[in-house]
Amino acid sequence: MSILIVKYTFHRSYQHLVFLNVRIDHNARNCGNKIFLFTVRRNVPNVICTRFTDVGNLSVSLIRVIGIKNITADKLLDEINSVGKPCVRAAHIKPLVSHRRSSFHHLTMRIDIMTLFTDMCDSVLGESIIGRARNAGKVEINTVDIRDYTKDKHRRVDDKPYGGGMGMIMAPQPIYDCFNAICDEIGAKPHLLYMTPQGKTLTQDRVKELAQMDNIAILCGHYEGIDERVIEELQPEEISIGDYVLTGGELPALIVADSISRMLPGVLSDDECFEDESHFNSLLEYPQYTHPAEWNGREVPEVLLSGHHQNVDAWRRQQSIKRTFERRPDMLENAELSKKDKLYLSELKANEKHS
Ligand code: SAM
Repeated sequence: MSILIVKYTFHRSYQHLVFLNVRIDHNARNCGNKIFLFTVRRNVPNVICTRFTDVGNLSVSLIRVIGIKNITADKLLDEINSVGKPCVRAAHIKPLVSHRRSSFHHLTMRIDIMTLFTDMCDSVLGESIIGRARNAGKVEINTVDIRDYTKDKHRRVDDKPYGGGMGMIMAPQPIYDCFNAICDEIGAKPHLLYMTPQGKTLTQDRVKELAQMDNIAILCGHYEGIDERVIEELQPEEISIGDYVLTGGELPALIVADSISRMLPGVLSDDECFEDESHFNSLLEYPQYTHPAEWNGREVPEVLLSGHHQNVDAWRRQQSIKRTFERRPDMLENAELSKKDKLYLSELKANEKHS
C-alpha cells in the first residue's frame, strides 16, 4: 500500500480536515487508500490516518478518519514503513473555505469534548451511526485533550485537594485554556456542558433543545472532580446522566453527544426515526418485532402481519400508551393525547381497578 503524506499546518486535531472542503490532486488516486496527514502540535507530530474511497474529487465526506495519535518523527517513519513503501508527494490539499467559519459549519453542529482521555471517546465516536455521520459530515465531533493545555512542565493536570481528602482534583488552568482555545478556533463561545452527578438529569426534551445549537463543548471531569473556581468562571450547564457516580465524564459526554447527534438532520437513515421512539413525545415506544414470524412458540402480533397500515398505526399507538401507563405513568402527564387516546387510557385505568 502506498501512502500520501501531507504536511498540514493546522494547529489542532484532524477534525479540521473533516470540515474543510479539501481537494486532493487526482494523482493521489494512485497512492492507494491510506493517507497520513500530520500537524505539529507542541513539537510532536500529530498523525492522522485517514482512509478514502475515491480521491477523484475528494470531498470531506469521503474521508474516514481511522485514528489519531501523537508520535515522534522516528516512530512516524517506522509506522509508514510498516504499512508499505511510501509514496511521498507534495500536498495538493487546499482549503476551499476558511476553517474558522466554513459553509460546512453552518450546516453542521460542532461538538467539542474536552477530556483527559481522548482515546476513550474516539474509539466510541468512530463506530456505527455516529461514526458514519461524522464521516459524512452530518455532525462534527472533536475530542480535545485538556492535557495539551497544561503549563506544568511535567504535563500534570491535577493535584491533591486543599483541606485533605481522597483523590485528585483537576486543576483550573488547563481546562480554562482548553475552552478558550476552542472559542478562539470557532470564533464564538460554544454552549458549555459540564458532566457531573451534581447536575440536572439529562432528558430527551433537553436533548432536543441542545440539538438546535450550533456549537457545544462538553467538559469531562475525572478523578475526584474539577476545581470549583473554573466552574464558577466558565458557568457551564451542569448535566448528570443519572443518580450514580462514574469514574469520569467521558461516558456521560458520549451519551450526550450520541443523543444529540442522532437528532440532527441526516444522521439517522430514512427508515430510522426518532419521533416514535421512547421519550420523544413523553411516551414509551411500542414493542417491535422482526423475522421470523414465529420464534420459540411466540408469534408476532397478527396485526403487524396484516399489511394494513392504519390498523398497524392504531395498534402501535395503543401499545405505546399501555406501556407508558404500566411502566412510567408519570410521563403521561406531559404526553399529547387525542380524544381517542384518552378514551383508551381511561379503559386501561378502569381495567386496572377491576383487576
Ligand atoms: N467527587 C464528585 C462528586 O461527588 O460529585 C464525583 C467525581 S466523579 C468520580 C468524576 C467525574 O465523573 C465527574 O467530575 C464527572 O465529570 C463524571 N461523572 C461521574 N458520574 C457522573 C454522572 N452521573 N453524570 C455525569 N457525569 C458524571
